[in-house]
Amino acid sequence: MEMPVHQSQVVTPEEELLFTSLRAKEWQEFVGQQRVKESLQIAISAAKSRNEALDHTLLYGPPGLGKTTLSFLIAGELGTNIKITSGTAMTKVGDIAAILTNLQPGDVLFIDEIHRLPKAVEETLYPVMEDFALDIVIGKGPSARTIRLDLPKFTLVGATTRYGLLAGPFRDRFGLIHRLEYYDPETLITIVMNSAQKLDLRLSTDSALEISRRARGTPRIALKLLKRVRDYTQVKGADATNPETVHQALDMFAIDTLGLEEPDRKLLQQIILKHKGGPVGLSTIAATLNEDTVTIEEVVEPYLMQVGLLQRTPQGRVVTELAYAHLNLPLPGKS
Ligand code: ADP
Repeated sequence: MEMPVHQSQVVTPEEELLFTSLRAKEWQEFVGQQRVKESLQIAISAAKSRNEALDHTLLYGPPGLGKTTLSFLIAGELGTNIKITSGTAMTKVGDIAAILTNLQPGDVLFIDEIHRLPKAVEETLYPVMEDFALDIVIGKGPSARTIRLDLPKFTLVGATTRYGLLAGPFRDRFGLIHRLEYYDPETLITIVMNSAQKLDLRLSTDSALEISRRARGTPRIALKLLKRVRDYTQVKGADATNPETVHQALDMFAIDTLGLEEPDRKLLQQIILKHKGGPVGLSTIAATLNEDTVTIEEVVEPYLMQVGLLQRTPQGRVVTELAYAHLNLPLPGKS
């Protein structure tokens, strides 16, 4: 089990409901990720005009950037059903077989956290993805035999935060592979304003900016913070159009104005204080922070690099001048 290191990544059941209710139902409500959107739309209309199923699609990137939402939009545009499951729910071949044999032609099968599929299930999917053929072993021992079931042509949409963990042959079977990027603050402002409107919460652009700056480029975190602001204004009778209100509402979260949380600040501080700002190797950082290298590399570092606080060099990780400034630490040689 991976430990969530960032508070902002923890989702309560109540928030899950809110996210579902705020989920974009039309393409125009899905803001940003222009390149991904356009190429998906082209692929979808091509598939529709040929009367074929859309190519299997892999969406990867950090959590909360819209992979699930996109797969709903894909199914909507195709005019087909969507079935949702996750790599952790498919513990044996029978689990996936039950789902596959119930699909209709053209359906979308969404598998979240697809890197978590057990090897046997993943390998069952190879002929399924290629030939829409499901090989099932019946019986045990010497009398066991394999039968091949024909499946309707459908589209597998896989989502993962760990592209690197997918086996080559698995990746190769996806016709469309898209990486989702962190959102810039302007795009997040639009998402926050739209969602506030749906929630009947009056917000100013400045208030929305205050939320967006802390959202780590991630719509899901922006919505989580928006919910916090709404709760706060309801209880306090405060005015959310005032950015100061937003500031107060979000102060309880230990998220600073660049969206950094405790693990992020700790990583930067350790490199500065213990390693003179770097370069320092990943495993050394991991040991200092008592955290595993994968979490650091895939969860903590991408955002720090995105906001320009950290660089990966061939010699190791190096913090930038901006990091010193952000943490209020003196630059070496200038103290
Ligand atoms: P993922 O599957 O990548 O973890 P989700 O699709 O569950 O992310 O998105 C989390 C929340 O953020 C959803 O409520 C969704 O409506 C919202 N969201 C994500 N991307 C966008 C976007 N581009 N525009 C508007 N809302 C978005």
